[in-house]
Amino acid sequence: MCEYEYSNGVKCSEDPLKNSRYCALHISFEEGERLLGRKRLEELKLNAVVKKLQNKDLNLEGVYLYRLPIMWEVLNALEIEDIEEDINLSFSKIGEVIIRGSKNRPLKFKNLFIHGAEISGLYVTSAEFQNIYTMPRELYEELKKRVSKVSEDPDSFEITPELIRARDSKMLVDSKAMVDNLWMIRCNGRSLLLNGLNCSNFILANSSVDEVWMNSSKLGQVVLKDIEIFP
Ligand SMILES: [Zn+2]
Repeated sequence: MCEYEYSNGVKCSEDPLKNSRYCALHISFEEGERLLGRKRLEELKLNAVVKKLQNKDLNLEGVYLYRLPIMWEVLNALEIEDIEEDINLSFSKIGEVIIRGSKNRPLKFKNLFIHGAEISGLYVTSAEFQNIYTMPRELYEELKKRVSKVSEDPDSFEITPELIRARDSKMLVDSKAMVDNLWMIRCNGRSLLLNGLNCSNFILANSSVDEVWMNSSKLGQVVLKDIEIFP
């Protein structure tokens, strides 16, 4: 088995690559390129992504990828209708993430987690989702438990000040993610909880979201264009 251990303590169940302790997803660029060369490594990583998509398993915590194409063209070719799951990219190192629906059919997913991730470009276009989080997964699970105690609707996830305890605010402040380019175009979502985001180029355009949190974020250029934010 691959030696990567997810933050919930579960080990990755993929087979390791020959002469490595890690699977195609979790092997670092450096080790993978040394063992296999860049071209072969890219192929193996992309095949592993395809397998994940086919299994509708988008827990990609801790992966190293050159490119992650969750695009309608790719899903179409794989005969996958919709994602409608959480996408977990926490602690990953990824070159380009493309999440893209078609103009007349948005790509739907639930939540996107990017805590501790290092991503050069995260491009989300024509998509519908619930929330995007930089907070650690354990804090999310904890808050979800508290929300379910006070709310009938399991999908409603509204963080009100009463739900946050002193320890959590520290964890919220400690949220972090590095996304060099974050572009969100024609997106429809509930909230962008992007505390502690380090981003040189943030574009939010032709989109509608309920709330945006960016406490303790470091932002370079910010472009907001034709957006609606509902309080
Ligand atoms: Zn693995």
